[in-house]
This record gives sequence, structure tokens and C-alpha cells, in this order.
Amino acid sequence: MTSTPLLERLRALHWRLTPQRRVIAEVMDGEHVHLSAEEVLERARERLPEVSLATVYNTLNELVSMGEVQQVDAAAGPTRYDPNTGDGHHHLVCLKCGDLRDVHPQGLDVLELPRSERFGYRIVNREVLFQGYCSDCGGP
Ligand SMILES: [Zn+2]
Ligand SMILES: [Zn+2]
Repeated sequence: MTSTPLLERLRALHWRLTPQRRVIAEVMDGEHVHLSAEEVLERARERLPEVSLATVYNTLNELVSMGEVQQVDAAAGPTRYDPNTGDGHHHLVCLKCGDLRDVHPQGLDVLELPRSERFGYRIVNREVLFQGYCSDCGGP
């Protein structure tokens, strides 16, 4: 269940690609990508040293508001950014080290929020979080 790569989606949207925005989009491409803004900066600078943290934040915020990147606050620590928005995936997180995986749980097609609990919201996303301990961490 792979979704279209981020850069490909942005090209299709005719997103204005400056060199800085291009490297930011490039480092956000892939599976199980959940980088913090600082990590995006670090990786982008390996390709283009003049990338600034402000540009990283501005670009990520723009991509989030376009719906092409989603913010993930599943674990302790900074917000992470996830380019896989189209495949309806959910997250599996290690409570100890913060490792974060994309998962596709079964049975969610029947998951519904009763009208009485929607409080007039227009629902645009639903997120199920599986928490546990990864094979490196073992247990609490
Ligand atoms: Zn772990
Ligand atoms: Zn994800």
C-alpha cells in the first residue's frame, strides 16, 4: 500500500519548486518517514547547505495546510512530519524509544463516530494509535 511519492504529487499540483523547497520535499519522500523539523533541516543541509530552519518550518506548514504532509504527535518529543497522507495508514509507536511505524490495521472500515458524538464537526481524518515496545526495547 504505497501512496504516490510526495515530490510527484507536488509536481502534479504545480507547487512552486525553489531549490530549498525541492530538497525539503526530497528528504520527506519514502516509507515510514516521520521526521522532526530539525531532522528535515539536517538532511536537507547535507544536499543544500544554505537551507534555513525558517524555510523548513514555512515549507512544512505550507505542505500541512495543503494536506500533502500530516503532523504526527504520537510520541514524546517534537512534532514529526509524515508525507504519506493518501493511504489511510495509522501508527504503531514504541513508548520507550519513539520508533514510529506506518501500519494498516484491519477492521477500521467499520469504525464510525456516532452522530451524537460528532459535535457538528466535519471529520477529515481519523487516527488510531497502537502503542507498545519495539523489539529493541522489549518492555517497560
Ligand atoms: Zn523502542
Ligand atoms: Zn506515518
